[in-house]
Parts: sequence; C-alpha cells; structure tokens
Amino acid sequence: MATTQHLQLLAPLSGVLMPLDQVPDPVFSSRLIGDGLCIDPTSQTLCAPLAGVISNVQRSGHAISITDDSGVQVLMHIGLDTVNLDGQGFKRLVEEGQRVEAGQALIEFNADYIALNARSLLTLMLVVSAEPFTLLTPDSGLVESGQPLLRLSLGNQASDSRVEEEGETLFSKPVNLPNPNGLHARPAAVFAQAAKGFSASICLHKQQASANAKSLVAIMALQTAQGDALQVSAAGEDAELAIKTLIELLAAGCGETVAKGGVSEPIARVEASSAKLLRGVCASPGSAFGRVVQVAEQTLEVVEFASDQALERRRLEQALVQAALALQILRDNATGTAQAEIFKAHQELLEDPSLLEQAHVLIAEGKSAAFAWRSSTEATSDVFKNLGSALLAERAADLADVGQRVLKLILGVQDSAWVLPEQAILIAEQLTPSQTAGLDTSKVLGFATVGGGATSHVAILARAFGLPAICGLPTQVLSLVSGTQVLLDADKGELQLDPDLSAIEQLQAKRQQQRLRHQRELEHASLAACTRDGHHFEVTANVASLPEAEQAMALGGEGVGLLRSEFLYLERNTAPSHDEQAVTYSAIARALGPERNLVVRTLDVGGDKPLAYVPMDSEANPFLGMRGIRLCLERPELLREQFRAILTCAGLARLHIMLPMVSQLSELREARQMLEEEALTLGLKALPKLGIMIEVPAAALMADLFAPEVDFFSIGTNDLTQYTLAMDRDHPRLASQADSLHPAVLRLIASTVKAAHAHGKWVGVCGALASETLAVPLLLGLGVDELSVSVPLIPAIKATIREVDLRDCHVIAQHVLGLESAEQVREALQRHQQTAVVTSLVLES
Ligand code: PEP
Ligand code: MG
Repeated sequence: MATTQHLQLLAPLSGVLMPLDQVPDPVFSSRLIGDGLCIDPTSQTLCAPLAGVISNVQRSGHAISITDDSGVQVLMHIGLDTVNLDGQGFKRLVEEGQRVEAGQALIEFNADYIALNARSLLTLMLVVSAEPFTLLTPDSGLVESGQPLLRLSLGNQASDSRVEEEGETLFSKPVNLPNPNGLHARPAAVFAQAAKGFSASICLHKQQASANAKSLVAIMALQTAQGDALQVSAAGEDAELAIKTLIELLAAGCGETVAKGGVSEPIARVEASSAKLLRGVCASPGSAFGRVVQVAEQTLEVVEFASDQALERRRLEQALVQAALALQILRDNATGTAQAEIFKAHQELLEDPSLLEQAHVLIAEGKSAAFAWRSSTEATSDVFKNLGSALLAERAADLADVGQRVLKLILGVQDSAWVLPEQAILIAEQLTPSQTAGLDTSKVLGFATVGGGATSHVAILARAFGLPAICGLPTQVLSLVSGTQVLLDADKGELQLDPDLSAIEQLQAKRQQQRLRHQRELEHASLAACTRDGHHFEVTANVASLPEAEQAMALGGEGVGLLRSEFLYLERNTAPSHDEQAVTYSAIARALGPERNLVVRTLDVGGDKPLAYVPMDSEANPFLGMRGIRLCLERPELLREQFRAILTCAGLARLHIMLPMVSQLSELREARQMLEEEALTLGLKALPKLGIMIEVPAAALMADLFAPEVDFFSIGTNDLTQYTLAMDRDHPRLASQADSLHPAVLRLIASTVKAAHAHGKWVGVCGALASETLAVPLLLGLGVDELSVSVPLIPAIKATIREVDLRDCHVIAQHVLGLESAEQVREALQRHQQTAVVTSLVLES
C-alpha cells in the first residue's frame, strides 16, 4: 500500500530562528538554492540535522551538506560571505564521505571572530533536494540545538521495504522547460506515461516543490511555466535510464512542437557547445546573480493607406504632443543630468523638421499617419546606421525608440508592462532608452544585450541607475531560456550560465570587499596621493561643467587636467559669445583657486560631433577628418575668440591651454602665434602654459621634436588607442580589442614620456586609461607625472597610488613593454595588483 514517508530535521544549532525571507542575501532569501530556515546562532557547534553521509564539506569549513539514504540533501551554511575567511574561525570535525548520526557535531566555529570579520553570522539550513516540509515550531523565536525543527514529506512510496530496495536517489541536472504553456495536460500526460514505463520511483522537482512523475494530476499541480528549471530524481533499478530518458523528453517539449527558433532548441545548442560563459563588454560596472528574462519589443500592425488626410495629420500631431509630454515627465523625474539630457534629445527628435516633412509628404500621398511616421523614422534611422559611425548608429537606436513611442500613441496601443519576477536579468537584442528608464529596479538586477555600445544612451542610463550591464554579447544569448540562472559579471564583461554556489559566493564576497574599499577611499580622498616610497603624483579631474569641477574638488581632485570645452559649443544654433565663455571658464577657475592647475582644452569637435553654426562637408571617415585643431585652424575666428575668453581667467587658477588632435608641428606653431597675438592685444604680460594632447601616433612618435616647443603633454589614450590600433573607439564589436593596454600604445606612452622629460616637461594622461586602477602602477612606472581621471574615480586612483612602491612600478612597466598583447599586459598587471594589495595589507596590519 502507498504510504507517505516523513523525516524530521533537527536544529543544527541553538539560536534565534528567522524565516529565510529575512536573510539579507538574495541567493538565500529567494530560495534559489533551496527552502529552509535561518538561525542566528547562540551556540558554536554545528550539528547534523539528520543522519546520512557528508556529501560535501567546503575546505574552508563554512558550509557542509548531508545526503540521507532516501536522497534528502540538506545544506548548512555558517554565516554570510564567510567563504572569504578562508577557513579562519572554523574547525571541521568530519570528512566528506563519512556517515554521521543526527545530532553529531560537524563543525566548530568561533562566533566572535566570524561576527567581526564576515558580513553576518546568520546560519542557513536548506533542503536542497526540495522535499516539501512543515515547520514544527513557530517560525521565529529561540530554538535549542537538537530540537526537531522541520518535518519533510518524502512522497508516496510503495512500502518501507521498497524504499530500502530502491537504494540511492539520483538527480538530473536542471533543464529549462521549453513548452510555451508549461506542462499543461497534453505534455504532462506524455511525461507521466513515459515515467510509468520505469520501475524506479520518480519525482519531478520545481524549486522546493516536487511531484510524483507518474501522476498526471501531480505534474499539472506543479504549475510549471516556460523557462522553469526542472529536475528529475529517481530511485530504483532503472533510475539512471529513467532520468536520461525523461530529461531528454522534457528538453524536447514532451511531444509538443516547440516553435522553431523557440527556446528549447537553442538551449540545447548552448549546452551542446558547453558555452557556460558568454562574453561581451562592460556597459555599466557591477555584478549580479539572477534569472534570465528575455524581453522583446512589441510588433505593431500598421495599415498602409488612409482616406482622410486631415484626420491622419491630426493623429500624428496629437501623438507627437502626447509623446513630448511623456518625455517631459521622464525628464522631470530624471535622477541625474545625463538621464534628463537623453530625454531632452528625444524631445528634440520629435520636432525634427526633416522627419516631420517626410511624414507629411507620405500622408499627402494617401498613407496613414502610422505608416508615414514609421517610414520616415525608419528611413532616417537607416541613414544613421549606414554612415559607418558607431556613434551615429547608437543615435539610430534613439530614433527607433522615439519612433516606436509615437507609433504606439498613433495606434492607441498601450505599452504592455513586462511581468518581471524578482532578481531578473534582462536579455534583449537591444533595450531602448525608454525601456531602460522605465525599469523596475526593485526587480531588475542588471541586463545583457547583443547590440548597443559602452557609449550608448542605454549604457549611460544603466550607469546612472547603478545597474550592471553588458553589451555586445553573441546572439546566442537570445536563445537562453527565461528562468535560467546566470551570473552577470559586468566588470569582466561576462555572463556565466548556471553558475555554481562557490562562483556566486565569490562574487558576493568581492562585492562586499569593493563596498568596504570604496568607503575607505572616500574617507581618505582629501589626502595626498604619495606612493609608499614617498613620491607624490598629482591626481586631477576630467570635467565638462562647473558642477563637475566642484564635485571633483570635493572628492579630493588636485586640479582639472582636462576641461572638455565642447560642452559650451554643442547642441545650440549659434556659437557661444566671448562673455558667455569667459563667465564659465572664470567660474570653473574660481572653484579651483590660484594654487591648482586648470587645463582648458580648446574646442575638439569635427565630423562626428558637427556644429550647427559651422557648415562642414559630410565626411566618409569623420574620425580621420576635420577634427580638433584642424577645424579650429580652418576657422581661426572661432579659436581666437576662445583664446580671448580663456585668457580672462588667467590668475584665477594656474591656467594651462591644451590643443587637441595635434599631428604636425606647424599646427602647434600657428596656434601659439594666435595665442601670443591675443594675449598681447589684451595686454597680458605672462602667457599661460601651452601644451598639446598626445593622441595621434604622429605626435607621440615626434614627441622629441614637440617637447622643446610645449610646456606639457597630456596623453589622450582614447584616441591614441583608436588611431594606433585602427579600431573605432566606439565600435561595440571591437570594444574588447580596442584596449589601451596594447603594448603598441604603451610603447608610444613610454617614448613620449622619455622625450618630454629629456626637455624638462611634464606629462599627464587624461584618457580613460588613467581612470583604470589596474593601469596606475604601469603609468607611474612609465614615468607619467599626472593622472587626470573621471571625477567619481578620483578617490580610488589616489588610494591605488598610496598602495604602490614606485620602484616596483618601474619593474612592472619595463616588463609589460616587452609583452605581446593587451591580454598578457592585463594578466601581468592583475598579478602585480594582487601582490600590491597583499603587501599593503601586511604593512598596515
Ligand atoms: C582621449 O582621446 O583620450 C581624450 C581624453 O580625449 P576625448 O576622449 O575627449 O577625445
Ligand atoms: Mg581625444
């Protein structure tokens, strides 16, 4: 006769019981590993809650699993982030494979040490094999070690003796359910029928719930959905074959045709190629562990023709007004200027005369408003995409976003809200800025896309929200079944599929360390950046506005190493007047004061950043065209006006003027002459310092000839990398290769520094490489004198300088100059960084 078996689990510790939901760690509170309980311990010995075999005990002693004879598996995890303690504070009393009795001591731990050195002492007991259970005590309050806590139901068994005969219970790996409607009646019947063909007792598991696999009703009661991770367990003679057959059946859709290009087929591909790791590039730093949610844009039905032209025009007008209002709300609610600027740009697209004209022409030809608007935005977006500039291709994404917003309003289609589970990692071909801005960040932990670049508006929004994100992933990512567990490590640009517990724990420990480090860096931000052996390096800021300059000073910036003056010139219809410029430069100079350097870079615009009031021919290769100093020398009035405005703040700060994109000595000489003439006209006795950016290989290679004629160099590694490696700096697919740590770029930096120092001139680095902590020892070792970095990173870069010894920096710099690739350089620097951190900890302790 069928009977339900029960098993009691004892409290492994004395302490205060807490429901799992209150554990401040989503891996546990979400029950991803298993359901169970949490105890805040008052005793210091972890005991076995059940009899069985130690199926795993972590080397560090912080976690242990027991599997009993019926296959019940229970995991105990002492404290949170305790993997990080590397065994300190734990004493293992048992070995893997050893049989233990219920109540037997397993691990002793030092509660005081753990409480002081780890995030928390909270200890988890989780039923990993997912048997349903009932609680034998109230779910909060004090418990005593050894007290019965949980009552597990082991499912229907033929008889006690049968259980014994069945022996070991085997578990399959999880498989993601491909059926669009889950295991509803038909596929469930197919599955149950197949299960009945085996003598083994078989269960189908969905997280903590499980069902007798031979019962159609029990399977349906599991209420599975597409993407659920299901496991099959079996005990008995033919268990192995049963699991193999049933798992294949589940993956194939249980007799249901899973749509071509649907989810089951591709996941099989992912598994077959055992691609557990997908690589892209970091769009927004951070990391998260969660479940895949595939999202796609709604497809909208559009009728081509309409009879009433006046009505169609009105429809378009109304939709444009509504869209502008919606964007205004997004702007008003934006949490930062970057976010507000994006939606301002979208509002401007709504007024774009060329878009509107194209749409109105089509309406006049008898097309519907929806058709006309869609055709006009799509045509313009295609033009952007085909111009060969990754930056404009990203703007095409903005246009598509605005296009879709208006189209929905014309058609009266409501935005179908995404139903998101907790801990969602969104996967999409590409997200639009509107979708990103509307994300429910209480549920979405991060996202990963095929398209988009690190400079896209979506990436900017993700950074503003602090959401980790990766772009440029292979299209394979679109085949992942919703529900798949993934670990998104945006810092490394990696998406790890089905990560194991230790990977998750490591990542969490890393995040905790990063948080603590960041806190310490902020506390010490105002201290000087001196290496361990006493060499001071100036850490200044890259800014593009007065508020940024003020923020830089508050974060310990020692000056401004790069003021990108373009912000005064872009997105307007007339050039900024002398007075407007002078007011802005002076305000920034005052924020720094007379003791700090202010390096103002003259206008660096050109083909890729056109100015409405400077007519320019369109160029096939804008990055190789009329950019920076070339444009300014062609329009001398623009440069002279800027020189005059900059000169008004001489004396308010230590003024430096810097010329961008210089590749010829004649450019420097011509600009210097203009500056001297303007200074003379203004009656200035002393000229400000004049320097050039080293961002074109020609300038780096001829640094020995430039050096006598400048006061300083600042190396723009962003452009220097793009021009040295012949890789567009914004190209999403080349992003991981266009690495400034390429030895070719490093050799140019080394020779530039050598040439500058031979003439007694200083060299800064203001490209993004200076903001990478990994590169700090290298740049110092190459002899760079100043690092001008992105404002939020000032404290981190200063802290890194304080951790290194300049003599070691020289050694590592010489070593990497001889390496073959950027990857090799990164690895060498990572090894060096680890040693430096350990040394610094030892010296501090
Ligand atoms: C650079 O090229 O590294 C640089 C700092 O200039 P920008 O990024 O403004 O082109
Ligand atoms: Mg540049």
